[in-house]
Amino acid sequence: MQLTLEQLVIEFAALRAVDEVSLQLERAQIGCLLGPSGCGKTTVLRAIAGFELPHRGRILIRDREVSGAGWSVAPEKRRVGMVFQDYALFPHLDVSDNVAFGLRGMSARETRARVTQLLDLVDMQAYRNTYPHQLSGGQQQRVALTRAMAPRPDLLLLDEPFGSQDAELREQLAKEVRSMLREDSITALLVTHDQFEAFAMADSIGVMNAGRLHQWGSAYELYHRPADLFVGDFIGQGTLLPATRAGTNSILTELGELSGQIVNDLNGDRFNVLIRPDDVIHDDAARTTARIVDRAFRGAEFLYTLALPSGDRILCMAPSHHDHKVGQEIGIRLDVEHLVLFADPAPGAIDKPGSVSLD
Ligand code: ATP
Repeated sequence: MQLTLEQLVIEFAALRAVDEVSLQLERAQIGCLLGPSGCGKTTVLRAIAGFELPHRGRILIRDREVSGAGWSVAPEKRRVGMVFQDYALFPHLDVSDNVAFGLRGMSARETRARVTQLLDLVDMQAYRNTYPHQLSGGQQQRVALTRAMAPRPDLLLLDEPFGSQDAELREQLAKEVRSMLREDSITALLVTHDQFEAFAMADSIGVMNAGRLHQWGSAYELYHRPADLFVGDFIGQGTLLPATRAGTNSILTELGELSGQIVNDLNGDRFNVLIRPDDVIHDDAARTTARIVDRAFRGAEFLYTLALPSGDRILCMAPSHHDHKVGQEIGIRLDVEHLVLFADPAPGAIDKPGSVSLD
């Protein structure tokens, strides 16, 4: 395993910033920690880099223990590269010297070959003699990343690396960086609070809140099989509807019987089921109807908020040529593959099950 965290605990006085976090990354995999501000993402990254001491637990890089309770190998002895949001390039060095900076110890010929290989990889060969102030933000970011990748670190840590870029460029950069890391078989752990960036980059995503890692899995697993209400709420959109058990793989809701694989079976007969906007299909021919109470134009789609006769609400994603107005009744049917169940009443966050949008 390239990176292993085992029940990592980090405390600042009375605050437990990282609470028993365990995860693993294989070689050449890209992982991502996602979560609201202050949930402990950066602290995990800093501990992996060797800047924070664990109070409990262990950190292993390439199966070698580098931190344990109260001790740690110095950051410069870890073969870990880092890229931060304020990726300061050296202003007095041109692109090729910036990239070569991390390669001290290599011969001049080896250095030249590695710099050329990397600049080819990021399509920046034409800029090798350009200075940082002559580059765009996205180009500077690519150079910073290239500099961190140059020594072939065992692990690359990226903390909000696209934070200063606008939304469109962030997604493009995220895809580019993913293919760069892939081509060079680099293992990386990224921190972000932007789920689309995480989806674009990562093989495995960890959702954190208040120091705890709620789930570590693929984007698909987080969306379709959220481990708990926090993950169901944080990833994507959805609402909860009250449900009772109808059969082994079916439940009964106000919208009729829903059949699908029950992801997280619960004891008892009453619960809430998570309904995503893409589970609700707008169909003029459907017998079931719901009233539009709100709508948001998303370009190719409308996101409709629909009220059911009970007052409970669901979200429906419909192609935007179905231009219905607020107040109109529209036909809907449900197409649910996975049934994600939560206890009734739902613990924490939600005080009136069934009527609260999770987003
Ligand atoms: P953001 O997305 O806003 O950067 P984050 O998820 O990266 O947040 P961290 O920076 O890891 O969060 O901080 C986790 C918690 O630990 C926060 O409550 C923060 O105030 C606290 N914290 C972080 N570093 C220290 C420190 N050196 N001393 C005291 N408290 C700290």
